Amino acid sequence: MRPFVVAANWKMHKGPSEAVGYLKAFLPHAGSLPGRNKIIFFVPAIDLWVVQQALRDTSIGWGAQNCHYERQGAFTGENSPAVIAELLASYTLVGHSERRTLFGETDEALAKKLRALQDVGIEPMLCVGETLNEREAGGTGDVIRRQLREGLKLRDPVKPFLVAYEPVWAIGTGKVAAPAQADEAHRVLREELERIGGRDLAEKTPILYGGSVKPENSGELAAQSEIDGFLVGGASLQAEAFLALARTEKKK
Ligand code: PEP
Repeated sequence: MRPFVVAANWKMHKGPSEAVGYLKAFLPHAGSLPGRNKIIFFVPAIDLWVVQQALRDTSIGWGAQNCHYERQGAFTGENSPAVIAELLASYTLVGHSERRTLFGETDEALAKKLRALQDVGIEPMLCVGETLNEREAGGTGDVIRRQLREGLKLRDPVKPFLVAYEPVWAIGTGKVAAPAQADEAHRVLREELERIGGRDLAEKTPILYGGSVKPENSGELAAQSEIDGFLVGGASLQAEAFLALARTEKKK
């Protein structure tokens, strides 16, 4: 059975002291979460040290929101996958739509990042999703299939990764995909995973939904058979709201 993964994306919010305060409020409740749930915090890279100190003796995972594909070199301002691994991160985001649209990240660069993370023992979470124009033009399937295929082009065939389906029009907008709409996109991605790596890969890879997930809509989304968790931006910024999402029970 795949885990149900509830991941927080803090984006460019929270410095080290706020991060520690948040985790202090969250951690006393972590023991009572459903056993199938895996919790991950994607934090600003500058917080990774204190987050590691706070979470290292727990079953909660943490990681960065982006990295470079080289391990070291003259790349001012970038973060090395090897350093993220040294900070004991188990996961890192690749290709969040804000990286793709605001920072011009290409499928080619993302494929290299995904492989670089696997090479240092970090599980990448590859984000894919269509814009509103692409959806309205009937292109959702083609776009997310392409982003998935291209992003996985250099992957290590024996190392795990996760996928997050995040329709761009639903991120930070308050517009959530209808549960059946999200489930259909997840089905497309699961089929593409099977084409890429066979039934086993498709069966074992968690596909999370992201886009304005909140405690009020999480139950209906989690009830969809292909949704294996959430990637949460806005609602992850308050420990209490994120805790409510972390408590989501996957029934199927
Ligand atoms: C995200 O940043 O990945 C995200 C899904 O944001 P929000 O939950 O705010 O839509």
